[in-house]
Amino acid sequence: MNKPGFIVDNNVGKLAKWLRMMGYDAVFFGGSDDAYLVAEALAEGRIILTRDTHIMERGVITSGRLKALLINSDKPESQIRQVINTLNLDCRSRPFTLCLECNQPLVERAKDEVKDRVPPYVFQTQNQYMECPACRRIYWRGTHWQAMNKKIERFRQG
Ligand SMILES: [Zn+2]
Repeated sequence: MNKPGFIVDNNVGKLAKWLRMMGYDAVFFGGSDDAYLVAEALAEGRIILTRDTHIMERGVITSGRLKALLINSDKPESQIRQVINTLNLDCRSRPFTLCLECNQPLVERAKDEVKDRVPPYVFQTQNQYMECPACRRIYWRGTHWQAMNKKIERFRQG
């Protein structure tokens, strides 16, 4: 089964980063016209995440042709928990495989390839690196990564 892809409405924008963190393809919809949101979701086969009840009333969604999840809470942590539980997402299989900013798959880099591109203390203490081919951002398994992992664990259990 293919992993679901998402389109995240701007009223629940924080969800995009959390989903990417867990390795789920999630595009952010920054526009204000629902019609574009729905069209993009249909064209790319994405599940809509939104707090907008009007979107949920659209025929394409009530008929089941397009999947959408109405987010109940205005708190980001409750929102991601709702998405994980409702759609049965696997938070652990592919964490940190997508760029949190661009939603692009990260590429592994050898340590000597990133030598001049990360702070010296990082280079000395970290051995695993990933690079985003779009924005060239380098990721490593530092303390930030561990903190996010813990948070994801908490979501899963909540
Ligand atoms: Zn990027």
